[in-house]
Amino acid sequence: MFITDVTDEKERRLAETTAIVNEKELTIKNLTEQYDQERKLIHQEHLRRLEVIEGLSINYDSILYVDLVSNKLLPYRASVRMKDNSEAIYKSRNYRNYISRYIDAWIYHEDRTLVREALSIKGIKKNLIHAKTYFKNYRIVENGEIVHMQLRVVNVGSEKNITQVVIGIRKIEEERKRDLKQMQVLEDALVASKRANIAKNTFLSNMSHDMRTPLNAIFGYTALVKNCVDETARIYLDKIDASGRQLLELIDNVLQISQLEAGEIMLSESKHSIRSIVDRVVKTVKPLADEKNVIVAVDLSNVNHYEIICDGEKLEQALMHLLNNAVKYSNFGAKTHIAVTEVQDLHNGYSVYRFDVIDNGIGIDSNALKHIFEPFERIRNTTFSGVYGTGLGLTIAKRYIETMSGSISVESELNKGSKFSVTLNCKTVIDEPNLTDTIEDLVDKFCGRKILVVDDNEINMEIETEILTDLGFEVDTAADGDIAVKKMQSPQASEYALIIMDIQMPRMDGRTATRQIRSLPDKKLAAIPIIALSANAFVSDKKLSRESGMDEHLAKPVDVPLLLKTICSVISAKSL
Ligand code: ADP
Repeated sequence: MFITDVTDEKERRLAETTAIVNEKELTIKNLTEQYDQERKLIHQEHLRRLEVIEGLSINYDSILYVDLVSNKLLPYRASVRMKDNSEAIYKSRNYRNYISRYIDAWIYHEDRTLVREALSIKGIKKNLIHAKTYFKNYRIVENGEIVHMQLRVVNVGSEKNITQVVIGIRKIEEERKRDLKQMQVLEDALVASKRANIAKNTFLSNMSHDMRTPLNAIFGYTALVKNCVDETARIYLDKIDASGRQLLELIDNVLQISQLEAGEIMLSESKHSIRSIVDRVVKTVKPLADEKNVIVAVDLSNVNHYEIICDGEKLEQALMHLLNNAVKYSNFGAKTHIAVTEVQDLHNGYSVYRFDVIDNGIGIDSNALKHIFEPFERIRNTTFSGVYGTGLGLTIAKRYIETMSGSISVESELNKGSKFSVTLNCKTVIDEPNLTDTIEDLVDKFCGRKILVVDDNEINMEIETEILTDLGFEVDTAADGDIAVKKMQSPQASEYALIIMDIQMPRMDGRTATRQIRSLPDKKLAAIPIIALSANAFVSDKKLSRESGMDEHLAKPVDVPLLLKTICSVISAKSL
């Protein structure tokens, strides 16, 4: 090889090496730049995160990062109270010592145990087992004043091993004040609405009382005049009576709804016969059915136990509304049906009963069906449909049945008819009912007995006296409770078989008079049967009458057959 060739070769290798070095230098430079760039991005991201944390934690006076394993603390932000630690504790970063000092120095004595538990390492782990975070509200004492605080602990380590947490502490004074203010507003609203409700119920009760009193006169005199007029006048009187009954129904419905809304309805359970309940319901609806030539069929063939324990009055009322509607919303000559089925004997003394009220009348469309049980809901009003109603019957029926823990449902098709079903779980009574005297027997037995009628209203007194005299009783009167008590202390007291007592009277009301009579020294006189006959018709009025010692409470206007039945039953019960 020539010398020139050797030199060339070396130069070529040198060039190659230089190129490689240059290339590597370039790569290193690129990598460095890339690395710097990435570091810059990471730094920016880090700053952004800090800003986010800063932003989110703006309300927190103190933010502490705690390693529960090493018991070390890193205060990210510390309030004056948190910093209020000895230099040694602050520097040691010992979490337990740090918190202990904070609790002793600042926390209101009643809340120390709570905070100690919430911030102990054991407590933190316990609280975070099922949750990522928890909080506790507590109080501190600052400048001699109580300040409301909140601590929040967040698990920032792994979910399984609770090793690192962040604790945030903030004042909640502002929020608390806002909450208290809101609560005060709500409480005021509640008090106002309760007051309004009481006022409404008092108004309705007064209204009902004041409307029933003149109605009593209308019904009473209508009944009395009927006996001494010709046929045409009697027809007119029947119409007065029917219109009055419609008005009374409206008052009763409004009153019942207001009682239901006031939660005034209580269950009054006793033994009843399904047969009697259905009979009474059919009897009540019969006049309307006859008017429209609607047939009301009854089917009780699927009942084994006829005697049940239930609130008979409510069940009867509910069924009455349903059957009344079935007739009301049926065309002339249609057919309605009330059927009772003992669906299931539960073999524990209870059975499930279903009461179906079926008609082939005008039916209800599916849209209207959804709202049919709401108060005042009517598909067509009275003017449009020509059918009188208040839109309250179904609401009352449903609420009564639900009060009895039963249910009510409906199936209906427009122009085909409707089926309302009531399902009730009732205790059954195996015993046959005791055979008692009929009302006629009782009247025969008790007629001629003397009744003391106590009423301050002259018209009412006249009506009651007339009705009772017509029924064959002898009547004495007293114009208020005080006179009644005095009569019961006089020598003729033993002649009275029963007292009919008004409630609201001047000088002495009926309940006070009853209490005084019940405490007379002569036990026989003290036990005289007393029936309240009052225009106050709330359930609570009945309860008050019973509590004062009265045997029964009847509402005005006088329902003559009911009055007669009640008179006979209380006299016979007390003379047994
Ligand atoms: P009211 O009959 O006094 O209007 P209800 O609460 O008893 O009030 O009934 C509400 C509405 O439901 C009635 O106005 C009527 O439109 C409809 N409705 C109830 N029962 C029947 C029925 N058996 N057939 C058709 N429509 C009925």
